[in-house]
Amino acid sequence: MKPGLICAAALALALTLAPGGLAVAGSHRATVDRPDVSPEHQVHLVYAIPKSGKDRRRDVDGTIASSFEIANVWLANQTGGLRLRLDRLADGIVDVTFVELSQTNRQIRRAGAWARDEIEKEINALGFNAPNKVYLAYYEGSSTFACGGSAWPPKLKGNTAALYLATFINGVPCYSGLSGAGDPPRYGEFSAIHEIIHTLGLVAECAPHHTRAGHSSDGNKDLMYAGPLPLEPSRVDSERDDYFGHGIAGCPDLARSAFVEPAVAMPELPPEWLAGVRCTYLGYGKRECE
Ligand SMILES: [Zn+2]
Repeated sequence: MKPGLICAAALALALTLAPGGLAVAGSHRATVDRPDVSPEHQVHLVYAIPKSGKDRRRDVDGTIASSFEIANVWLANQTGGLRLRLDRLADGIVDVTFVELSQTNRQIRRAGAWARDEIEKEINALGFNAPNKVYLAYYEGSSTFACGGSAWPPKLKGNTAALYLATFINGVPCYSGLSGAGDPPRYGEFSAIHEIIHTLGLVAECAPHHTRAGHSSDGNKDLMYAGPLPLEPSRVDSERDDYFGHGIAGCPDLARSAFVEPAVAMPELPPEWLAGVRCTYLGYGKRECE
């Protein structure tokens, strides 16, 4: 299996993006996961810069929170109201944490297809290893290989997805800004949801249209498509047969995930996720559990 989830370099070619990223109300920078108001399974957002890297303050200016909220509204529109549960503060503000990695961007890039694994290893070592959370790192650096990456359990166990914000593929930027209030979702927003869905173990190999390690062959309008065409998503498993609402027993399904809200009756964890157990992920599919 190809490691690190390619999330098709070709996808970048779909970009015809205008600059974006409106700021919302400023907030103080947090370098730790702030106290939770919900014990439910949830997605925690991280703004990660490489050692000595440029700090664009996307955590405190609201860019990351706004972008993910736009992405999540789009997801809800495709799924009949179901969305990913975010780690929020008591006032509803999204809890975004800032971290500076111990590796430079040059070092991260050297990992090639495994850049995400290096980021996962670093943020887990910093304490981002809660048993009820998966993490999405908005990485202010670049990859030689792809626009983003994710775990894909059970084949690639992990708790972290990453968007490599400064990446160019074939001279084209993956992300020409993240969307802000009033903007439609664009590549950065689709990519965030796409990568988190991988982290939940989707698209699983039991899906009829599974292809290319976690993707769907069901056309490039599907959010989880991978193939020769540019990704232009306008739907989430619209035939309800691969990763959302398929009803196939024993086959992972976003509609039954413990990480979505409103909460479902019999929530399911990602494949081989150990319920209630704190695991520290080391990248490369490895973990140490207490
Ligand atoms: Zn992918």
